[in-house]
Amino acid sequence: MFLGGAVALAASGAEEQPSLSITMDDVNWQALADPMAANALLLRVAKKFRVQFGLFVIGRNAEGETGQAIVSSWKSAGHLIANHTYSHRPYGALTFEEFSADARKAEDILAPYLSKPMLFRFPALKEGNTAEKRDRMREFLRAGGYRNGHVTIDASDWYFDARLRARLSKTPGFDATRFRRPYLDHLWNRARFYDGLSKEILGRSVPHTLLVHYNLLNSLFLADALGMFAQKGWRVIDAGAAYQDPVFQRNPQTVPAGESLIWALAKETGKFESQLRYPGEDDVYEKPILDRLGL
Ligand SMILES: [Zn+2]
Repeated sequence: MFLGGAVALAASGAEEQPSLSITMDDVNWQALADPMAANALLLRVAKKFRVQFGLFVIGRNAEGETGQAIVSSWKSAGHLIANHTYSHRPYGALTFEEFSADARKAEDILAPYLSKPMLFRFPALKEGNTAEKRDRMREFLRAGGYRNGHVTIDASDWYFDARLRARLSKTPGFDATRFRRPYLDHLWNRARFYDGLSKEILGRSVPHTLLVHYNLLNSLFLADALGMFAQKGWRVIDAGAAYQDPVFQRNPQTVPAGESLIWALAKETGKFESQLRYPGEDDVYEKPILDRLGL
């Protein structure tokens, strides 16, 4: 009896092993001193962990020779390529007509690369500041053959990257590896939060899609971050496999719409107000931490 119980527990524990995939946004290669070198480092991370990433590309970043070479290199390595609008203007600042035109313009540029089923991600995960705008974009995407490329684990890697680059330009010889531990701690902290929320609202750990950005920070530390997750017992999986989970078909009825999918599903229940800050993630939450560390 006792042994049987232990085996059953071990089996259910194995099923509960959390998993995450990497979705990387923007492809702002213009901010990198050596874009092709950083691109090679980022591609190498995916190769090292033998996983497919999702690359959510801002259309205007895929114009011109360098942009095309970068997106092509990800496409030919088998990664998902997805639409992240043409100009990355937030939906809240635009009308439905302006925003949907921006999405369409990106599709024209990204057409040779886009993976099927097509995925679309809202800038800053803002899906509409009114119910009408939210629902019109949902209909526009559905009619255009898109699914929402939801994020389940949101984070502020972009802010760590901005601080790192500011520090490097201000302090010659600054040791960039000082950002490694705080960045990994931040990702772990956010992963545990959203995974915990997933278990509370859905009764299970969903296959996660972690949001990171195509930047210097990740060219330096994303491999270490994935190593950390693996070491803590998380499986690193393909982005395409994660998006097959039915949770990604959910359309939470929240206004303003967006944030992490897990955040929005929790918000929709009305039962997690004390755990849900707005926005879900932002620089204001991380600034005091980096200030305190003298970074
Ligand atoms: Zn973005």
